[in-house]
Amino acid sequence: MTGITLQGIQDAAWSFTKDSPLNTIAELDSLQLFDAPLIAAADAFDPLFAKLKENEVVGPQHRMPQEWLEGAKSVISYFLPFTKRVREANRKLGLAAREWMYGRYEGEQFNNSLRNYLVHFIKDSGMRAVAPGLDSRFSVVNRRSNWSERHVAFVAGLGTFSLNRSLITAHGSAGRIGSIIVDAAIDPTERQYTGIDEHCTKCGACILRCPPLAINEQGKDNAVCSDYLDRVLARYRPRYGCGKCQTAVPCEASIPRIQVSSMSVNR
Ligand code: SF4
Ligand code: SF4
Repeated sequence: MTGITLQGIQDAAWSFTKDSPLNTIAELDSLQLFDAPLIAAADAFDPLFAKLKENEVVGPQHRMPQEWLEGAKSVISYFLPFTKRVREANRKLGLAAREWMYGRYEGEQFNNSLRNYLVHFIKDSGMRAVAPGLDSRFSVVNRRSNWSERHVAFVAGLGTFSLNRSLITAHGSAGRIGSIIVDAAIDPTERQYTGIDEHCTKCGACILRCPPLAINEQGKDNAVCSDYLDRVLARYRPRYGCGKCQTAVPCEASIPRIQVSSMSVNR
């Protein structure tokens, strides 16, 4: 038995998100980037982790939780929803709003600080923890990573994939994702879905929003999307982003078919 609970981790993550100066952008009139994170847990031995190694899912390079942390028992996954201000700013068609680009760049710095904070929070309780996204073994080769935060979030019960390959959570798809692997046994969150894309209504709204036409009825062409993001980066370095497929669409901030959130953060 450990003193670590999912609720305790969620409370710690929310306190950190609320108080961290990295979650506020002074030069954009004190823009707050993220609201309270949604948090879920997966059993580190869930058979779906082995499935991620298949070529048509993520690929053989995807590591099992035990390959990151010997004795891993649970994987904590979280979704950081962008605030209404960030989302609303990006609803115009065309180039990403400044608020969104800060959300991608400074937002990922905040996400890394949250990963780091949670690792230390768990270690302080006497358990071991690793954040793959911060680990020196983390790699992305040919745009394929050895730890996919979105797929891990799916396994943990946070949401399902969309036509544009975002994850649609109870708080929508506009946000960032992170995870921590721990050697504490934490009750897994029940996945309230079976299909990989059952939260997506296939309404097609995201197809019409995509500047380089990377999305069609069959899905997203990752190369077209990535090339477009590279062009934005070349012009606005170090910031970049697009996210038009995640804003001004029915899945921006909720599950389209289910209007009442099935996961409460009690805030
Ligand atoms: S806009 Fe419609 S089709 Fe596109 S991901 Fe959201 S729900 Fe699916
Ligand atoms: S992020 Fe932008 S370029 Fe990429 S699929 Fe979404 S709308 Fe298209």
